Amino acid sequence: MPDPNGFLRYDRRLPARRPVPVRITDWREVYPPAGEALIREQATRCMDCGIPFCHDGCPLGNRIPDWNDLVRTGGWDAAVESLHATNNFPEFTGRLCPAPCEAACVLGIGGGQPVTIKQVEVEIADAAARGGLAPRPAAAPTGRSVAVVGSGPAGLAAAQQLARAGHAVTVYERDDAIGGLLRYGIPDFKLEKQHIDLRLAQLEAEGVRFRTGVNVGVDVTAEQLREAHDAVLLACGALQGRDTPETPGRALRGVHQAMAHLVAANRVVAAGEGRPALAVLPDGTPIDAAGKHVVIIGGGDTAADCLGVAHRQGAAGVHQLDLYPEPPHARDAARDPWPTWPWILRSYPAHEEGGDRVFAAAVLEFVDDGTGQVRAVRIAEVTVEKRDGRRIVTAVPGSERELPADLVLLAIGFEGTEEQPLLAQFGVARNARGAIDARPDWQTDADGVFVAGDMHRGASLIVWAIAEGRAAAAAIHSYLGGVGELPAPVDPERQPLAAR
Ligand SMILES: Cc1cc2nc3c(=O)[nH]c(=O)nc-3n(C[C@H](O)[C@H](O)[C@H](O)COP(=O)(O)OP(=O)(O)OC[C@H]3O[C@@H](n4cnc5c(N)ncnc54)[C@H](O)[C@@H]3O)c2cc1C
Ligand code: SF4
Repeated sequence: MPDPNGFLRYDRRLPARRPVPVRITDWREVYPPAGEALIREQATRCMDCGIPFCHDGCPLGNRIPDWNDLVRTGGWDAAVESLHATNNFPEFTGRLCPAPCEAACVLGIGGGQPVTIKQVEVEIADAAARGGLAPRPAAAPTGRSVAVVGSGPAGLAAAQQLARAGHAVTVYERDDAIGGLLRYGIPDFKLEKQHIDLRLAQLEAEGVRFRTGVNVGVDVTAEQLREAHDAVLLACGALQGRDTPETPGRALRGVHQAMAHLVAANRVVAAGEGRPALAVLPDGTPIDAAGKHVVIIGGGDTAADCLGVAHRQGAAGVHQLDLYPEPPHARDAARDPWPTWPWILRSYPAHEEGGDRVFAAAVLEFVDDGTGQVRAVRIAEVTVEKRDGRRIVTAVPGSERELPADLVLLAIGFEGTEEQPLLAQFGVARNARGAIDARPDWQTDADGVFVAGDMHRGASLIVWAIAEGRAAAAAIHSYLGGVGELPAPVDPERQPLAAR
């Protein structure tokens, strides 16, 4: 029986982040482990309210009150079991999820302080990792085989579910390492890569085969894949970066897609662990922000990750531009009533490391230094309104000014999955959002070819990728005539409390 008064005795507390002057000199994670006493205290704040809205806030349907109470009473092994019943990779979500569950926590009603659900989750995950993540191979093989294309969280979650059900699973990844955006997209100060490697060892021990450096559609055709396997899951992400080709000066040196900078920087960090260093952009430009004035355009995860990387590379100064006005700092209940996901100012640890955020600003021009290299961005204050579903951006007269810029990073979102040979070969096409549609049974327009994660959903979240990977795995298992049912947390039509 949970403690009904815990939240009255204890305030919400998170572990202190590593000090800024220390952490920007390295690439290690910002948060140290919380310590058992703090995490048991915080788990005690969960009263098991009876109608746990946090379940619906979590796309995985994590059994949050159950494992909160197990942590409160020190039942770590049972907490590890309970958490893994719904989430293959809590070490990723516990570190990186924006925690829509916390926005839906009953303790948050009326501006209260929700339970630190995500922190409890990561501590359970790390307890599991310390215990060695024992493999759970299938009791017997089914004799059926599945190809998973793409090794991000969607592909990996599906692979683990299918392997545990006895299917022979091969994951094909065009990159030189497994992990999708977790590997080279998300910097180490948010997710150190040993967490991925530990989980991959478990998957391998459960029978999952990994083939890196294989670009499906180029190195192996869709037909070859279909001949070799009984079903195919496409989990290729939504990596088509949005650009701004119409902005004057876009072609100048020093103006780059954010992902080009992030991936190159993350590869340099990874090189310290024995992987190849690619310290230059594809056009040969060094990626280093050291000593440079950096302007990041965009207000989301990718922009914040660029900010943290720029600080660690020693940028002279960083501006981060957001088209929209500064959001409120607390939930506006009239606009976003509890338990929906509120529009509020979201600040990441990277924001306390420095840099200036400029809201309600649009770039009019990237300014040439006379040699073809960017030297500034000319911006204007803007208002943004929606008319007939279209976004109308209007510059405020007389508000134009220049910001110094030697390096400009475009973090203005993604336009769906990339156009690549694999699509036509499998006979699937991008919809108006650049995503691949799924039928209710997760099959694409091509029979036996399934889709999950960002490729189906558009650029989203790790928690959704895992949820969709699990759901697609359940559908594939049933398509292959597998015995029993695999758990499936979501269907493709479900609209979450926390849409993204
Ligand atoms: C910079 C950045 C930071 C982010 N931070 C967060 C965060 O803090 N929290 C959060 O919840 N979400 C975050 N996200 C979003 C999250 O990373 C994605 O939603 C998630 O990784 C999607 O998983 P996925 O498996 O669908 O695809 P991905 O992780 O994109 O993986 C797709 C994989 O498919 C491979 N692939 C593509 N085509 C082929 C082919 N033809 N053959 C073989 N392989 C192929 C790609 O190389 C890639 O490895 C972030 C995204 C970015 C870009
Ligand atoms: S996965 Fe995200 S939404 Fe679900 S319990 Fe963890 S932090 Fe909350």
